[in-house]
Amino acid sequence: MTRLETAAAAAQSGAELTLQDVTYRYRAGRDPASGGVGPLSLQVAPGEFLCIVGPSGSGKSTLLGLLSGFLTPQRGEIRLDGEAVRGPHPRLTLVQQEAALFPWLTVGGNVRFGLRGLSRTEQGRREQDSLALVGLPDMASRRVHELSGGQRQRVSLARALATQPGVLLLDEPFSALDVATRERLSTELLDIWQRRGVTVVFVTHHLEEALALGQRVVALREGVAVLDAPTAGLSLSELEAVLR
Ligand code: ADP
Ligand code: MG
Repeated sequence: MTRLETAAAAAQSGAELTLQDVTYRYRAGRDPASGGVGPLSLQVAPGEFLCIVGPSGSGKSTLLGLLSGFLTPQRGEIRLDGEAVRGPHPRLTLVQQEAALFPWLTVGGNVRFGLRGLSRTEQGRREQDSLALVGLPDMASRRVHELSGGQRQRVSLARALATQPGVLLLDEPFSALDVATRERLSTELLDIWQRRGVTVVFVTHHLEEALALGQRVVALREGVAVLDAPTAGLSLSELEAVLR
């Protein structure tokens, strides 16, 4: 491998994410009842696939907001490969529930959106690679309104992957889709994760989905972790019991 290739391989591999005593409250006073997250400590290993579960309002999206640098903790620290995260970071990429695509851009234009600053050749290469990875190799010139919900979510995923994130943060990415599409995309995500080695933090309120996808699951209730365990050997009823 040349030095450039080594650097490219490192850029594509998973990063380590650490949260230490992180607290975020939406309202001053930091009253736990005011909504938010914490105190929470968590370590996500490079290349790990972690699922976050919890009922609606338990702080899952807030946690991803913190991990993606869009929210700043009032206490504690978040580190990416040992470096403090202060604000949005190019190696932390968030995919949300509803594909936030730009309707005035083509599929390819959406995928290249986060790549401005790279050479045209590199943009084109990443666009092709990531569209192929999500199963849409011939769709680059399509308009967003021509796509199904599942295809839009694939494009969001391709846009995120094109930035070669160290950690892919997914906030209920498939929950607006029908069951068959959701299952197909989940399987594809696992395949992409295995091929890319990216660290994944996947938020879902579907416990079965978390058990099927994750190597490890963290269950949140009122912003704190009530369970942090490997999924191997964990049953659905055990997981339901901690959230009851
Ligand atoms: P989840 O994603 O698990 O459904 P959220 O992280 O969205 O939960 O919300 C956690 C808690 O924080 C909830 O009590 C919610 O009402 C509150 N909350 C979320 N966003 C805001 C906001 N922008 N302002 C005030 N409170 C909020
Ligand atoms: Mg949410």
